[in-house]
Amino acid sequence: LLAADGTVAQTIFAEMTGLAVRTGAINLGQGFPDVDGPDYVKEAAKAAIDAGRNQYAPGDGIPELRRAVADHQRRHYGLAVDPDSEVLVTTGATEALAAAILALAGPGDDVITLEPFYDAHAAVIAMAGATHVPVPLTAEGFRLDVAALRAAASERTRLIVVNTPHNPTGTVLTREELEAIAAVAREHDAVVLTDEVYEHLTFDGAAHVPVATLPGMASRTLTVSSSGKTFSFTGWKVGWVHGPAELVTAVRTVKQFLTYTSGSPFQPAIAQALADDETPRALAASLAARRDLLCEGLTAAGFDVVVPQGTYFVVADGAPLGFEDGHELCRRLPELAGVVAVPVSAFCREGSTTADRLRSRVRFTFVKREDVLRDAVERLHRLAT
Ligand code: PMP
Ligand code: GLN
Repeated sequence: LLAADGTVAQTIFAEMTGLAVRTGAINLGQGFPDVDGPDYVKEAAKAAIDAGRNQYAPGDGIPELRRAVADHQRRHYGLAVDPDSEVLVTTGATEALAAAILALAGPGDDVITLEPFYDAHAAVIAMAGATHVPVPLTAEGFRLDVAALRAAASERTRLIVVNTPHNPTGTVLTREELEAIAAVAREHDAVVLTDEVYEHLTFDGAAHVPVATLPGMASRTLTVSSSGKTFSFTGWKVGWVHGPAELVTAVRTVKQFLTYTSGSPFQPAIAQALADDETPRALAASLAARRDLLCEGLTAAGFDVVVPQGTYFVVADGAPLGFEDGHELCRRLPELAGVVAVPVSAFCREGSTTADRLRSRVRFTFVKREDVLRDAVERLHRLAT
């Protein structure tokens, strides 16, 4: 995590958000909404503060939130989850992922990811001292390459990290693709760690299939999600992980020494929100329209886009506009168009063939107000002229 010259590595999100703040450009880099979640959830958090829920919550998370998570998984996916032994509340999905990887993988273990991968997955695999084995998504449409996955798996494979809907590509893995991953996990007796933070944010009828619902997979799957994306409270950092009790116990053991416990007053508020299916449904519908607006604008400006089926993000190719290096394009985009994006190479292993293949791609977020997106699209059009 230290560069050769001793400087501390900075995440691409910090770098690009810093650039947006310095230049006043529209920040379509870091994925966070510019409209908060519902007022009743905010009121619930304020009420919890006023009611004195300001000291350490139980290490596992408060019982009503663990019950709400179990209830959510049953209601949406038919999963039977025991709120007492099979759910752990975490400080965002980030902590759940970190604690799970640190708990389950170490030196000598291989951890497979799908490349491009969410940057935190790779960073924590490195912290755990495990070997990162990225499996590239296909060049056409960012789908699972089953042959590449099979070739990458071995008896050393301890964990397969899945992320669906997928950041940065917006791919929603199909049941068939997930079945192929499940078969590899079973064959090599690996655990699947699945990052499903965008579970409700799918478009055009694309169905989110949780890995844990596949036959035989509940016993070897840790499912991670977060209220940040579902309810537009990314700054509250309320996440969770669920899975078989022995795996959750391992994750809890690590969590104890990372944060011990997570923010108390936000937990009852999110427990209440989790009973609300209308808020995420409405968010997905409005996001689909905003995706269309941004995809059309990017196309009109001269980018090639792969239309995403989910998440907050679209990947666009700068090559048709003459930009071969996405990182360079992102550094210059504020001055060229007054907009900030993030390079897809940040989600790839440095120097990998995927990084090379995706060198000219950049990721834009569309989880911004429509007027902000219209402004951004108008600005980006300057690139076309
Ligand atoms: N996983 C993915 C794929 C994400 O995109 C993000 C953040 N946007 C996270 C995990 C982190 O979620 P949280 O903010 O709940 O820690
Ligand atoms: N997950 C969000 C994104 O992909 C934010 C990540 C971050 O700030 N670390 O943009």
